[in-house]
Amino acid sequence: METLNQNDDYVKSEIERSMRHLADPKVQHAIKVQSYIRSYVTDFLREAGYTEIAPIIISPLTDPLNHPVYDPKIHAYGGDMWITQSMIFHKQIAVQELKKIFIMSPNVRLETEEKAGTGRHLYEFTQIDIEALEKSREEMMSLAEDMIIYTISRIKKEHSEELKYFHRTLPDYQKPFPVITFREAEEKYGKGFETKLSKDSTSPVWVIDIPLKEREFYDREYPDRPGILRDMDLIWPEGFEEASSGGEREYELSQILDRIHKKGQTEEQFKWFIELAREGIKLTTGFGIGIERFTRFVCGVAKIEDVTTFPKVPGRISL
Ligand code: ASP
Ligand code: MG
Repeated sequence: METLNQNDDYVKSEIERSMRHLADPKVQHAIKVQSYIRSYVTDFLREAGYTEIAPIIISPLTDPLNHPVYDPKIHAYGGDMWITQSMIFHKQIAVQELKKIFIMSPNVRLETEEKAGTGRHLYEFTQIDIEALEKSREEMMSLAEDMIIYTISRIKKEHSEELKYFHRTLPDYQKPFPVITFREAEEKYGKGFETKLSKDSTSPVWVIDIPLKEREFYDREYPDRPGILRDMDLIWPEGFEEASSGGEREYELSQILDRIHKKGQTEEQFKWFIELAREGIKLTTGFGIGIERFTRFVCGVAKIEDVTTFPKVPGRISL
């Protein structure tokens, strides 16, 4: 059977699509905005004392994620490695010595086909991945708020012509952003509240205290509230939905093992991380914020493809 990527007609039509996409003025403007966001965010973080480190593309250790994706496994040198789904563990390790870091981190998450139409999912994207040593969730929430306010205000000041192009008006968001707990959000908006909460908000809004079943094993549990994590998601307003996820990280070996078991995962899968935790690590806290989603929100466009040069839409093999 001929597969998609071997079919000449498919390749020709994809290349034509790519050329049309890159020639679209809307895409060109959005890519400029993305470039400004990259620049202002990194200016802000360096000024705040954060050191940029290079991304990791392949490793025997990557984020397990909490939703189904195809497995980006590569077999080489007699062992298995994975293309980075997120640098969560590398952040946690590197920051033990470097104290405050960030990465413009390309992530591959081979999302299933039904995510194609959400306007928010690409199977290759970049996140601004940030981590700090011995900081609390609240301190990192404050950093994220400052970073977003700084970035948006510079775009408004220095590139109002781009916002005009998109007929986009952005308010001056005030810190602190509103906060709602996961439980309150479910009570107010029902299960799967993200869309409703986002549409109902006029400022970026934090969702905190997310239950373990909704998250990966690695975020830290409240010592006195089993099953509830000291983590936070940021939701863009106006229906643009998830901006960021993050949290304080588990660092005690017994807790890490317990959590891996509770999530039904194997110690074998995380042996590199377990070995590290056995050596001893300290508390770290951080978050990751998708650059394409940030750009989509600033431009106010419906489709994430339109803020990306070579969009990878789930289900399609693309350039
Ligand atoms: N690892 C998270 C993610 O990629 C981000 C974070 O918690 O820092 O969703
Ligand atoms: Mg996440």
